[in-house]
Amino acid sequence: MPEKPMKDTVTYLPIPIPDNNELLEIAEGVYWLRCSMPFKLDHINLWLIEESDSWVVIDTGVNLKSTKHMWQQVVKSHLKGKPITKVICTHMHPDHLGLAEWLCQEHDAQLYMTQGEFQAYQAILQKISSKNYELDFEFFERGGVSQQEIKNYDKFINIYKSYITPINRPYQRLKANDSLLLGDNEWQVFIGRGHSPEHICLWCPSLNIFISGDQLLPTISPNISVHSDFPEADPLTQWIDSNQAMLRLLKQDTWILPAHGKPFIGGNYRIEQQLAEIESDLAKLLSFCQYPCCVIDAFPVLFKKKINDSNLFMAFGEAQAHFNCLLVRGLINKVPDDETLVNYQAY
Ligand SMILES: [Zn+2]
Repeated sequence: MPEKPMKDTVTYLPIPIPDNNELLEIAEGVYWLRCSMPFKLDHINLWLIEESDSWVVIDTGVNLKSTKHMWQQVVKSHLKGKPITKVICTHMHPDHLGLAEWLCQEHDAQLYMTQGEFQAYQAILQKISSKNYELDFEFFERGGVSQQEIKNYDKFINIYKSYITPINRPYQRLKANDSLLLGDNEWQVFIGRGHSPEHICLWCPSLNIFISGDQLLPTISPNISVHSDFPEADPLTQWIDSNQAMLRLLKQDTWILPAHGKPFIGGNYRIEQQLAEIESDLAKLLSFCQYPCCVIDAFPVLFKKKINDSNLFMAFGEAQAHFNCLLVRGLINKVPDDETLVNYQAY
């Protein structure tokens, strides 16, 4: 660890990034496995905890041949002949959960998740198999997405579908403040909300380590979205509340093990920075709302990146989340335009 942790910056731990298929022990019994992904987000960090006669895996990687191959290599070369007995998935997104069923099946391991993530995952699988996207289409239409663009939704869903597998097994339910003995240490379950329904982070006071998943990342912010099944939801306020709860939990020198990027200290600084960015974005949107505007009108206000077919639906959910937060704060109102389009305007 650096000798003097800086208070006002993110400081990476001075440890090398492990090569593909390599396990790097970064604290006693805690290992880093960096898994490549063929996307713009080119990797996910998976964490393993060694027990006396077995291994615990935290997150799995996406459902791809290359990820399965990585796991086969790791099992063969690095697990010392001990089985994987627990697979803990922080949340339901494909890079975290995509191979959960396969790993559990291959190793006869138990799956650990929260109820919120398990049920949301099953609901998505059901929607995909029924191909009933009517609610989604209405949701996007109300926000100003054109019929032409909505036609691409099927393609977007099919990409998602290709990286996941159905879960056909019971799960062990984890809840906030549960305590788990993993290896030689107690780990407490911290629940984060906003990015996904009930995201698990694992906090180990004795090692001063926080496995943060997507809940706390060193350089990027995860998507905070509203979805069509609950269009009035306010995930941004949930995200803000979760960040404030993390601020109370973490110490300045706590090692943060994120799902993307490198392990770091300065989690408190990073949280403060993100909270300030959110408030700044909300202020910009509020000022934009002095005239009536719909969800897609706000894209240039909220996003530096260009919004195209590949990121439209994620951007839409995120923009809607900002409008909903301002609505809940009582700062804007809905202004019906016609039967389908909804505009918002500041009071
Ligand atoms: Zn995620």
